[in-house]
Amino acid sequence: MKKLRSKIVDINIKYHMAVHVLLAILTALFIKEIFPFANFIKILAVSIFGSLIPDTDHLIYFYTYGKRTTYAQQAVAFIKKFDIRGFMNFVKNNHKLNHGLLSHNIGSFFLASLFFFVFTLDPDRFTAATFAMSVMLHFLYDIVEDFIFFGKLNPNWLFKFHRK
Ligand SMILES: [Zn+2]
Repeated sequence: MKKLRSKIVDINIKYHMAVHVLLAILTALFIKEIFPFANFIKILAVSIFGSLIPDTDHLIYFYTYGKRTTYAQQAVAFIKKFDIRGFMNFVKNNHKLNHGLLSHNIGSFFLASLFFFVFTLDPDRFTAATFAMSVMLHFLYDIVEDFIFFGKLNPNWLFKFHRK
């Protein structure tokens, strides 16, 4: 059981961003299913954008409100050296230990879910529905991953930032 869990953790570390993109594709397929008139390429572009945008908060964190943390300073050191591979590896292995991202909280998840349900009621709003759904699934995957990795939610989800 423990072995299986660490295997699943390894897979998630390796494919975290790929899963976000996969969820974007599923979002586009789902939206196309309920709004058949939608242009698939257009909604796919929107869903990929929506599923990646929450993680731009990492960069905002590194350069503004989180810049005093060792985590941010280590990350920025890679960027300064243009060591993109080192940066990607560092973030890949450590981002789950960052409990400071303000956007990654349960409120954002519920808000995205609420917008998703409201927008799906209006066929004219399928683009907005696509965006909201991909944002919602981004947070949902991050939440599920916390349970897989730690068996519980990271404190940031409950608005407790920077606490163990
Ligand atoms: Zn995220």
